Amino acid sequence: MKHVIALDVGGTGMKAALLAQDGSVLFGARRPTGREHGTDAVVAAILDFAADLADEGRSRFGAAPLAAGVAVPGTIDEKNGVAVFSANLGWRDLPLRGLLGERLAGPDGVAMPVALGHDVRSGGLAEGRLGAGRGVDRFLFIALGTGIAGAIGIGGRIEAGAHGYGGEIGHVVVRPGGPRCGCGARGCLETLASASAVSRAWAAASGDPDADAASCAVAVDAGDERAVAVWQHAVDALADGIVLAQSLLDPSTVIVGGGLAEAGDTLFTPLRAAVSERLTFQMPPEVVPAMLKDTAASLGAGLLAWDLLSLEVTA
Ligand SMILES: [Zn+2]
Repeated sequence: MKHVIALDVGGTGMKAALLAQDGSVLFGARRPTGREHGTDAVVAAILDFAADLADEGRSRFGAAPLAAGVAVPGTIDEKNGVAVFSANLGWRDLPLRGLLGERLAGPDGVAMPVALGHDVRSGGLAEGRLGAGRGVDRFLFIALGTGIAGAIGIGGRIEAGAHGYGGEIGHVVVRPGGPRCGCGARGCLETLASASAVSRAWAAASGDPDADAASCAVAVDAGDERAVAVWQHAVDALADGIVLAQSLLDPSTVIVGGGLAEAGDTLFTPLRAAVSERLTFQMPPEVVPAMLKDTAASLGAGLLAWDLLSLEVTA
């Protein structure tokens, strides 16, 4: 069975799979990233995990994986295969594609083809091809987690932009002069509608320092007026961001994932209404939950690996 390595390196854990060409998972595994041991240890853990996955492929299918795809957080130079910067994992200008290619080289010493991808754009790619955007030509993927990130899907691929920053909807300013964002600006969408932002706002409103976005959603369902106000504040900001994207990109579908999307209809019902009431001339997008949950980025990394092979064949 032909297969590739698919690996998603997160802040705390790595998720991996051996992926068939149709996107089906032949084998899955998880490991800690081990960032408490420092950046060098993280890099060693990534290389070891990839090598073990290659061994797994050999023993299961009698042949080495044809390629590997790796998704990492932070700033990525996809073209040159360099992980430029990750605040979480501590690296700068890490030539990860080269390191992996060498480590996964066959007995003939030929490096394995490796694709390096951005975690959220990889997740968006997988949602587009295998998940909620299947069959959709143009979509916007938004991940509502600690921060907010996004990916622009066009014709089966993700538009990364000229410098690799395309899709950063979390840093669209929706409330000028609003809360200070980690990026240095004020009023960015992620300061208002990320899971962290909702957690902070709900902890302040409820007086419970342990309150989080999930408990806010439960309180919304129970009709707690303070929770409803916190929630609607975030929903309105998110709707403003989505309408801005709609005006600019005109996607047919907006796929919303990440921790906050776990709230289901508690999020999607008011969000669809808030988007709808803001539209003037724009055609309304379908606003749908992501399907692939926390495996999206690893599946997307595997798809990048397969894409790399099809490029080699057609080149
Ligand atoms: Zn920002």
